[in-house]
Amino acid sequence: MSIFNYIFDSDWSQRSDIEALKSQNASLVGRSRERRSKEAANEARVEELEQEVGELALLCKTMMQILLEKRVCTGQEFEALIADLDAADGVADGKVTKPKPAELKECPQCKRPVQHHHTHCVYCGMKYPG
Ligand SMILES: [Zn+2]
Repeated sequence: MSIFNYIFDSDWSQRSDIEALKSQNASLVGRSRERRSKEAANEARVEELEQEVGELALLCKTMMQILLEKRVCTGQEFEALIADLDAADGVADGKVTKPKPAELKECPQCKRPVQHHHTHCVYCGMKYPG
């Protein structure tokens, strides 16, 4: 703002400032609404995922209990298989890690997707040549 505006601050100049501030405010209100809408969508998605995780945890717990009660396997065998399947995706991180398609090859025997670096199939046990 020039010295001229300080000394001769006109009504027009004030109105212009007010209009500029109104415009800024409207823009901020719009962005704020947009952000609140995104937050609501994210919260809904988190609730949906928590519901799915809870359902999967219940399913796993039920299946493990049936396996143990029917003596299909022991708890140690179950845990060993979990460790094997965890490592089968190439990363022992306590979860199923989706490999990139370029890191997979097809087992010639069972046709399942396996990691490129594996020397044998983790599903059917076939040893790969070379
Ligand atoms: Zn195989």
